[in-house]
Amino acid sequence: MSNDSTATRIKVAIRLRPALKRDDKGKKHCVRGLDSTSLEIWNWRDTRQTIKYNFDVFLDAASRQQDVYEKCVKPLMGKTLSGQNASIFAYGPTGAGKTHTMLGTSERPGIIPRAVNDIFRMIDKQKRDPINADWTYSLSFSYLEIYQEKVYDLLEVKGQDLPIREDRDRTIFIPNLAERVISCLEDFHELFVPASKNRTTAATKLNSRSSRSHSILLLKVVRKQQLPPYKKQIGKVYLIDLAGSENNKRTGNQGIRLKESGAINTSLFVFGQVVDALNQGLGRIPYRDSKLTRLLQDSLGGSAHACMITNIAPEESNYMETYTALNFASKSRHIVNKPFTNETIEKPSVQHPSKRPSSSNDGQNGT
Ligand code: ADP
Ligand code: MG
Repeated sequence: MSNDSTATRIKVAIRLRPALKRDDKGKKHCVRGLDSTSLEIWNWRDTRQTIKYNFDVFLDAASRQQDVYEKCVKPLMGKTLSGQNASIFAYGPTGAGKTHTMLGTSERPGIIPRAVNDIFRMIDKQKRDPINADWTYSLSFSYLEIYQEKVYDLLEVKGQDLPIREDRDRTIFIPNLAERVISCLEDFHELFVPASKNRTTAATKLNSRSSRSHSILLLKVVRKQQLPPYKKQIGKVYLIDLAGSENNKRTGNQGIRLKESGAINTSLFVFGQVVDALNQGLGRIPYRDSKLTRLLQDSLGGSAHACMITNIAPEESNYMETYTALNFASKSRHIVNKPFTNETIEKPSVQHPSKRPSSSNDGQNGT
């Protein structure tokens, strides 16, 4: 592993969804975009005032899926082909557009299909460049859900909570998680669409499973050199559709009671604490206190590039959830990630049968 000395900050974007017609009969909107990086929201303490926020990116209600991808995700994708990790997550209350942003529809595909397509395009481009003639590439994916602090495989439904492990190099992985190699976007759709139904068939009302679970798609790009020095680079991309942030009530006694009653989403609760701890530069970051933060350990304050897209809704009825989500997002702006390249040397035993092959690094770079 070679360390990259440049530290990058987590990128925080806000996406405002358009008002939904059925909810918008003559209602006022409480949020308004100002420019490409800022917005304002009513001040609930004094309705004559507004509160202004600045972010890395502000995407207004007219923004297209392509704009979201190009501003928030595309800049990170190239890094994964040289063995770096990237992580994109959609945060925000239920109904604000997280799944639309991540998954989208067949007419308006979201980040997930665009990212897969882009990786294939970049692999093709690299393969055509004579400078990469001695490299081979493979792309695979896994798909999981965290629901009530249990990890479920969505690709191979086992109905069983999968353990999360850490290897000697502090790489986090899930030993029994299914992983599928894909060679084109059609391959991906064929496997992913039925798997995503395992999550999205539930009704989209506030208490449904889909609003209380975190779905995590993992794309793994492996790049191997076929000639000395036989470098092997593994880049991982996590694409995460988080549980609705309305579950993230975490203030005072109410927060504690909610947690005890099981009404709070532990992973989202700890996610907030991890963000706070990183922002305050605390020595102990409570990654281990939830499944989500354990899995994202190298994507938050760790070794990956990251972008958090906070989805918000414009309607007055969503005011409090929008305000809370914006405050959470503005705290996350201070997290610093230190990217590094996951690179090892792996001599192929087939080409040199007389030589002892180096130890496999698959487990070490797993997940
Ligand atoms: P969440 O996953 O955060 O609960 P959804 O992605 O399901 O929210 O969005 C709620 C509704 O709003 C859906 O009907 C979705 O199609 C619609 N929607 C969300 N974002 C947009 C957008 N940018 N443009 C058009 N419709 C959107
Ligand atoms: Mg959703």
